[in-house]
Amino acid sequence: MAYLFETFKGWKTYCESNDVSLAESVLAYEIQQKGSSSESIYAGLTKAYSVMKEAVETGFSQDMTSNSGMINNGAKKVYNYEKPVLSKEFQNLIARALSAKEVNSCMGRVVAAPTAGASGILPGVLYTLQELHGLTDQQVYDGMLVAAGIALIIEHTSSLAGAVGGCQAETGSAAAMAAGAIVYCLKGSHDQVFDAVGITIQCMLGLVCDPVAGLVEVPCVVRNASAAAIANSSAQIALAGLNAVIPADECVQAMAEVAESMETRYKETAMGGLAATKTGQAIAKRVLIQDIEILPDQEE
Ligand code: SF4
Repeated sequence: MAYLFETFKGWKTYCESNDVSLAESVLAYEIQQKGSSSESIYAGLTKAYSVMKEAVETGFSQDMTSNSGMINNGAKKVYNYEKPVLSKEFQNLIARALSAKEVNSCMGRVVAAPTAGASGILPGVLYTLQELHGLTDQQVYDGMLVAAGIALIIEHTSSLAGAVGGCQAETGSAAAMAAGAIVYCLKGSHDQVFDAVGITIQCMLGLVCDPVAGLVEVPCVVRNASAAAIANSSAQIALAGLNAVIPADECVQAMAEVAESMETRYKETAMGGLAATKTGQAIAKRVLIQDIEILPDQEE
């Protein structure tokens, strides 16, 4: 059954010819791969979703200051700011994605979906989607299964790791997973789910991985917020019936091709992009000195 998650085209054909939903096919795959039961898969999803929501709440209620000082309770400020740019719902979406990711940057507990660097996107999107559309937890879990199927295909053809494919592979993949989950939860067709994936990848193609001082803080935290917004814009476009023109499978191939030609300095080495700026370098130096100063205390 593993072939199912090699292409979106194959996944669609399988679901149509076996008359199963996208979520049901991922569930069957998980059961087969893990020798597990449907109950235990859903128990895992229940746990994962509760950790995601907990991360959002933790970011809003506890001190989120990172050792480097680059993260300093930003999510709370966004959440409580009195002037929404678009709507309160959009503000909440952005704040929640920031919040869960800040928890990761401050070494708290998150769900790496698909990676810790992109751990704010699905929580922000799913939490907000459920609240706005009154979805049941079961509907959210099925959306998470679809997101997992999307990740399997991206991983098969390209990568989910910043060190391999740049940030397009991390936050880009998470946004594609979230966009597909949104469309699925709002009862879009298979094609609309995959169009949402393709459109999202088109929007995030080429994004480099350039964490300042090698810490997963800047630009990682704000990229989680923008990826959550792109996931929603892509889902909105796909649900209205606009197609991605370039099919999702080819978009993932393009992601792999871009990753292949991306220079090493843009793959989590902190040697290029924002990490290589004057300010980025000064922060890296300060963080290094801070670490050296802390060392003797730890040895005492
Ligand atoms: S910039 Fe790199 S470390 Fe940060 S989220 Fe993107 S891929 Fe992950």
